Amino acid sequence: MKLLILDIDETLVYATRKKLLETEADFLVPHPFGDYYYYKRPHLDFFIEQVKALFKLALWSSADKYYVNEVKQQLFANISLEFAWDRTKCTYTKKGGEGIYEKQLHKLEKLNWDLANIFIIDDSPEKLSNYPENHLLIPSWIGDKNDKELIKIIEILKILA
Ligand SMILES: [Mg+2]
Repeated sequence: MKLLILDIDETLVYATRKKLLETEADFLVPHPFGDYYYYKRPHLDFFIEQVKALFKLALWSSADKYYVNEVKQQLFANISLEFAWDRTKCTYTKKGGEGIYEKQLHKLEKLNWDLANIFIIDDSPEKLSNYPENHLLIPSWIGDKNDKELIKIIEILKILA
């Protein structure tokens, strides 16, 4: 089975300290620097059900460990993940004066993964600029209830699996 890595923020969920007005939050994540309201992207549960049969799954976020663990427990409590990586596994670089937390997929080679068998879904192209062949770019999600991107990407994943 190939490996599918999932970004968290604005790929699977939208986390905000300010409630979205028209929608109840799916869950609240307490955080030392202020609680977060969490909203699941439309069709997320269906998406996870589908892809867990097609790929080995992992999470990789540039958020902190505390946050990644909370999301993992909320969304993947009963699903075995290859890993759930946080910002400490990202590589901080400066490009054009801006700091970027890059996700260097070649780190996976140390875990005996072949890059040819790895895909990552992420809404941030700058974090994966060295890996265009592995990166499935998804539009950032910040609360649109009519979003269908997760449904669309399942069709692509069925071909890549
Ligand atoms: Mg993101």
